[in-house]
Amino acid sequence: MAVPILVFHKIDAVSPKSRVPRNYVRPGQFDALLASLRQSGYAGIGFDQYLAYRRGTATLPRKPILITFDDGYRSNAEIAAPILRKHGFTATIFVVPGLLGGTNSWDADEPQEPLMTASEIRALRADGFFFGSHTYSHARLTALPPDAALRELRNSREALETLLGEPVRTICYPWAQHDERVRALAQQAGYACGVGIRRRLNRDDTDVMALHRIPVTHLDSTWRVRWDLFRLGFRQ
Ligand SMILES: [Zn+2]
Repeated sequence: MAVPILVFHKIDAVSPKSRVPRNYVRPGQFDALLASLRQSGYAGIGFDQYLAYRRGTATLPRKPILITFDDGYRSNAEIAAPILRKHGFTATIFVVPGLLGGTNSWDADEPQEPLMTASEIRALRADGFFFGSHTYSHARLTALPPDAALRELRNSREALETLLGEPVRTICYPWAQHDERVRALAQQAGYACGVGIRRRLNRDDTDVMALHRIPVTHLDSTWRVRWDLFRLGFRQ
């Protein structure tokens, strides 16, 4: 089966001060996209279900899709979650446990926006949303020595497991940067799958430690995203 994973950062008005406007999708644009996906039969799933399918222990809906968010902005809870709920979709949010309640301080040049707190994360989990790790401090894993990279991976998983009271098995590599060494360290740190960014669907033989995600930006109309999903169905 070919399974799409979409990646978003912020559902919000594009900040005029942002040097990375592609990290924004406007609320109305997001609402229209989800309505279209729902109407054409897409069903949102989480990574546990996807992994169970890959192991052969679960089935998937006819048109599965995974919706993901990087960094864990508070606006995910305040703006994105109500729109997702309205259309019956869940999402997986990749958070940075060392910076909960802080801001995106790893992007010093960008407008600083609040990140979710631990209690906001627990409330969303209780509401059917899923969480994964984005490392402990939004670390550039490919640039770290192995012991430091392993600490970032392991500490973030353990902190999130304590916060959520359940296993955390998915790692989202910051800046989508990963290589063979980082993927091996992620496995060693207890992750069962990892996600980067690449415009491809995920096939039954795609490396689960390097799953592909399709970025959606403020420039992408609903039709552009739908066309991508259609077109990528024919590409390996
Ligand atoms: Zn990030």
